[in-house]
Amino acid sequence: MFGNTGFGDGEAIGRYAPSPSGDLHVGNLRTAMLAWLSAHDVDGELRLRIDDLDPRVSSAEHEASQRTDLAALGIDFSGPELRQSERTEVYLTAIQQLDDAELLYPCFCSRREVREAAAAPHVHLPDGAYPGTCRDLSSADQARRAEDRPAAMRVRANNLTVDYVDRNFGKQSELVDDFVIQRNDGVPSYNLATVLDDDEQRITEVVRGADLLAGTARHVWLRRMLDLRPVEHAHVPLVMNTEGERLAKRDGAVTLSDLAELGMDASAVRSKLAVTLNLAEPGERVTMDDLLNRYDPTTLPLTPATWSQ
Ligand code: GLU
Repeated sequence: MFGNTGFGDGEAIGRYAPSPSGDLHVGNLRTAMLAWLSAHDVDGELRLRIDDLDPRVSSAEHEASQRTDLAALGIDFSGPELRQSERTEVYLTAIQQLDDAELLYPCFCSRREVREAAAAPHVHLPDGAYPGTCRDLSSADQARRAEDRPAAMRVRANNLTVDYVDRNFGKQSELVDDFVIQRNDGVPSYNLATVLDDDEQRITEVVRGADLLAGTARHVWLRRMLDLRPVEHAHVPLVMNTEGERLAKRDGAVTLSDLAELGMDASAVRSKLAVTLNLAEPGERVTMDDLLNRYDPTTLPLTPATWSQ
């Protein structure tokens, strides 16, 4: 079921959209495996997107190593790829469209000002939500503030609550704050690029880490405002270290190249990740096709997995 997207059964299109800012770790790879399994389970396709929106943290070397690691695990892609760094014009056109619809306003707040305003006692908003300081500035005030610093552009979402259903985490009801659509250095935001790119790639299902569950209502809202096709969301639990914290590079050997140095090849990593998905027995060697035969989205573990060497 894909709502009014016009896609029928067997036409599911998923995507994996890594930011080429470092090597993928086993948590990222597990999410990629699940995106692949979810799409192929219904004879769909998985597409690759290079989320290199921020040139300061993206590199060709990281992109190459990510591609190599995904291929080593047996995660392949079909259909056209997309590269965010080549899509600036599309993002800027959408920003103009939102501005023309009077859905944007300039914001002059520094990060510190946002933090302090959000922490004020009368403000009851979720962490990180913008309290609307610049929402109703007069044009005279805007002109005066623009002399001190360039403005970021924010959406006028007015703390609307948006409901949607996540396939794994169920019904969600989340507030959409006046989030940034364009940074004050002109770079379009991740939120904007994501929804435009999903639409361009004809994505019907977004399988990604549960760290991105909070904030998904922004995407649902933005898709509506820009008249883009809706997608289904299926967030998947993260991989934690043995202390119960989100896995990170500091946790030692967590990338395929680190693990290879310890004598663990890609197939062994895949099999170990499959154990965390209840799709393999410890020590058993499995291919992606074996996993596809066993995959059942209704039995996916919904608690975080633990990675220990
Ligand atoms: N590029 C994002 C990341 O690596 C993922 C974005 C998404 O899946 O929507 O965290």
